[in-house]
Amino acid sequence: MAPAQNPITSKHVAVIGAGAAGIITSRELRREGHSVVVYEREKQVGGLWVYTPKSDSDPLSLDPTRSKVHSSIYESLRTNVPRESMGVRDFPFLPRFDDESRDPRRYPNHREVLAYIQDFAREFKIEEMIRFETEVVRVEPVDGKWRVQSKKSGGFLEDEIYDAVVVCNGHYTEPNITHIPGIKSWPGKQIHSHNYRVPDPFENEVVVVIGNFASGADISRDIAKVAKEVHIASRAREPHTYEKISVPQNNLWMHSEIDTANEDGSIVFKNGKVVFADSIVYCTGYKYNFPFLETNGYLRIDEKRVEPLYKHVFPPALAPGLSFVGVPAMGIVFVMFEIQSKWVAAVLSGRVTLPSPDKMMEDINAWYASLDALGIPKRHTHTIGRIQVSS
Ligand code: FAD
Repeated sequence: MAPAQNPITSKHVAVIGAGAAGIITSRELRREGHSVVVYEREKQVGGLWVYTPKSDSDPLSLDPTRSKVHSSIYESLRTNVPRESMGVRDFPFLPRFDDESRDPRRYPNHREVLAYIQDFAREFKIEEMIRFETEVVRVEPVDGKWRVQSKKSGGFLEDEIYDAVVVCNGHYTEPNITHIPGIKSWPGKQIHSHNYRVPDPFENEVVVVIGNFASGADISRDIAKVAKEVHIASRAREPHTYEKISVPQNNLWMHSEIDTANEDGSIVFKNGKVVFADSIVYCTGYKYNFPFLETNGYLRIDEKRVEPLYKHVFPPALAPGLSFVGVPAMGIVFVMFEIQSKWVAAVLSGRVTLPSPDKMMEDINAWYASLDALGIPKRHTHTIGRIQVSS
């Protein structure tokens, strides 16, 4: 990344999404002198942090015709990162003792994070750039520019041309479901964590939770408060694993992964244990999804790898007109959005230049080779730290 020789220019930029990534990005773009339009299909800022008791009409989110909900937040969720590490650098996430509705704890509840995002939007007058209830349905390159087609809540379609598009649509909405041998004939209930809100539906049940990263660890303990038994299946554990986990209800066990599910309702784990379960909760993570993006096959998603992306942000042959803020999964997310979007803004204004597309591809291929050499699976291409990963 070299300082540019070109005069600094202002671009007309579309940002897709007004979650934390979108509002931080739009602030950086405007600070750099660009004109910005943010498209947001919901009625308010906050994205994932806008909790709703509603969920997708299909609990596994497999039916393409299902009614969809964006948020994956459950009622009991508190941050898994301390507030000091969550805020944007020049707008820290400080406790607000002046307002009783706020949660001043170091690891606050999800409502507090939404309130912080709303404070940020108010402070930096972000809402004046946002078109709410407007969904982007198609984005494609045309003659060196980008056509963005959007749909208002009434169904009205609009086409507009931009110099650049920054994609900030989030990646915790499209569930990834692990296949279990025999599951088709297993008679119990199944749900993905995207659609989990409260433990009540699992009262007195025997429940198997698949996955033991952030969501699996949280949700298994939440359900244990009301269930008869909860069994966690973790593929990260040795096949012989069978441990009791300490919880007040004394009803939580850790196993290795599931071997089979059977017609008689039994679940057999790789450690040889068998439980007759009422429900399975898949805390098995999410897929990247850019259903609006038309790049003629250039950009692909392969096992959770969005490729090719230079430093997880720019697709070389389409840069700098197309960029992504928020692809990596990591612990300190909002600061990452800030740094990525400052880079995008500076590249678009010409203050910073990117390497040539060939050089960027070389860098990407070297990154893939280094992951291979370390034996890191493709699905962890964008995992910087393991904090938010469900598997
Ligand atoms: P989102 O918040 O998902 O926002 C994307 C926005 O884009 C949404 O508003 C959506 O409506 C909009 N959108 C999508 N498609 C379109 C379209 N076609 N047209 C128009 N608008 C569109 N991070 C932390 O820092 N701390 C935590 O404690 C933490 N806990 C988490 C717990 C869970 C269960 C999960 C799943 C994630 C957690 N994260 C946490 C990570 C979290 O993803 C980030 O904090 C961050 O909020 C993501 O912001 P985003 O803007 O990338 O995506």
